[in-house]
Amino acid sequence: MQANPEHLDILLEVQRIDIEVMQAKKERASLPQRIQVVKVRKKREEIIPKLQQVLDLQEATEAKATKIEDEDRSLAQKQERAQEIITAAGSDFRKAESHSKDMAGVAKRRVALEEELNKLNAEIAKMKAVRKQLEDAIAACEAEERSLEDSYREKDAELIGKARELIDQRTQLVSGLPRDLVDTYDKTAKKTGGVALGHLEEGGCCSVCRSTIAGGRLIDLMGQAPVGVCPSCKRLLII
Ligand SMILES: [Zn+2]
Repeated sequence: MQANPEHLDILLEVQRIDIEVMQAKKERASLPQRIQVVKVRKKREEIIPKLQQVLDLQEATEAKATKIEDEDRSLAQKQERAQEIITAAGSDFRKAESHSKDMAGVAKRRVALEEELNKLNAEIAKMKAVRKQLEDAIAACEAEERSLEDSYREKDAELIGKARELIDQRTQLVSGLPRDLVDTYDKTAKKTGGVALGHLEEGGCCSVCRSTIAGGRLIDLMGQAPVGVCPSCKRLLII
């Protein structure tokens, strides 16, 4: 492989950039906002059917209350008419008495209706309070989702920008290196999942896989200077 010490310094810089790009990609894929937004959305989706339940119940209760109000209104009209008849009957005692009995029944029914209506109105008030709580909870989830999405987009764009900048720097650096050195480095990086370049340390040790190279293998490797291949992990080693 055609290489001099200056090339290897540049290649180390290329490796540093490649690792940073990989980290930026990994960070993009695991941004916490993505997971958080899914959680908040799920929470909101769980509240929606509860709200629908309360809305349905409120509607049904309000319909019951309207029915009672209608009945009460018609009874009030009946009372008015009966009162007119009693007044008109004057001294016709029997006629007045029969209407008075009717009126007592109607009055009793209206008291019962009022009680029932009060009960229903209290229920409706409670439902409205629950509904407000649920609607507020949904609105809070929506606001949180928006804020997480904004924060996600911002961080993601930042990482994309960073990766682009690094890739530009890499292109620049690589243009000054021998083609075969770059090809070998790229192939090795693909196989090793990132760190393709290490050093042969004192005592014949590979700085990446830590295995000790000795005897004939070390002599072979030294012969490949300034850059050889670790017989153990197959990474490029600067000698
Ligand atoms: Zn090695």
